[in-house]
Amino acid sequence: MLFNTASHSTDHTAQEDIMTTTVGVIGLGNMGGGMAATLARHAFPVFGFDLSEAAREKAAAAGVTPVSSLAELLETIDIVILSLPKAEHVEQLCLGREGAQENEQDAISLLALGKPGLIVIDTTTSTPETSRKVAAALATRGIDFIDAPVSGGPKGAATGSMSMVIGAEDDVLARAMPVLEAMSGTRVHVGSCGAGNVAKIANNMLAACHLISTAEAVSMAARAGVSPEKLLEGLNAGSGRSGATQVMFPSWVINKAYDSGFSMGLMRKDVGLASDLTARLGMELPLSATVAQLWDDSSATLDDSEDFCAIVQRTDPTLYGHGE
Ligand code: NAD
Repeated sequence: MLFNTASHSTDHTAQEDIMTTTVGVIGLGNMGGGMAATLARHAFPVFGFDLSEAAREKAAAAGVTPVSSLAELLETIDIVILSLPKAEHVEQLCLGREGAQENEQDAISLLALGKPGLIVIDTTTSTPETSRKVAAALATRGIDFIDAPVSGGPKGAATGSMSMVIGAEDDVLARAMPVLEAMSGTRVHVGSCGAGNVAKIANNMLAACHLISTAEAVSMAARAGVSPEKLLEGLNAGSGRSGATQVMFPSWVINKAYDSGFSMGLMRKDVGLASDLTARLGMELPLSATVAQLWDDSSATLDDSEDFCAIVQRTDPTLYGHGE
């Protein structure tokens, strides 16, 4: 059953709605695993699917019912949340591999198997084009699609405090809202389908820039005799503050933990999405282009599996390097 905020009867409580709205989560990694656990804690019946058995087992320990195929998942659920690495994973899962025959494994998709009335909430950092293409195709089967990429990292997903930028039609958003409210702390409806990913790409373009510019400012001040800890206190009380100064440096850089749960590979993907969008719009953005080049060049020394915050090590290996 789905929520219909416009027609709630008085004897139908929000708790009853939660008990009867069945949610599926596809992609139980750093973010999706936490989202599934959060929804289960809110008493939604939650089913989870991931290609990785280890991810399914971890989700099961957090109250999620693991399923071993997409077909099995789609039998039961009213709302499905996607938390996949990239846009191409979203497109294949939603529409099937282009050219796949009906009886092939790759043809299994939300388009082929999803029931009319299903709502897809895609939290993947994807592209606006993919969101719009997938939404248009799924609409032919009566399936609604929302792009709702997130910020807040694995901790935000696990505690239900993430922020979301949402691209959706008003009526679909209203039906999905109880689930969105349970899994996030802040939701900004930025426009229709695809707008969520435009906003998320802009956000991560800034985060990629702030991480490097903060590394440069902290390094400069350290050479001039001001400790990173004291500088950050000053920056956070002043106009130079950002997510980098308020969260990334204190939580994952200054202590050299580099354990944010967001990989270098995924951040490079997001920086690439910003460059692609800029190019498609025919724009030249010199600062963003330089930042993108720095992230690209970093692949010579920093593997995709590293933490994204490790980018600062290229600015000042002595100050930010492991074990220095
Ligand atoms: P992750 O690599 O930890 O998890 C992705 C999961 O998807 C993996 O467990 C993988 O096995 C699974 N998967 C891949 N293809 C699949 C398929 N076809 N069917 C089922 N499962 C499949 O990635 P993550 O860090 O959780 O990020 C997920 C998305 O969220 C990415 O788009 C990322 O850019 C975005 N994001 C991540 C963070 C973060 O801090 N980690 C923050 C905001 C946004």
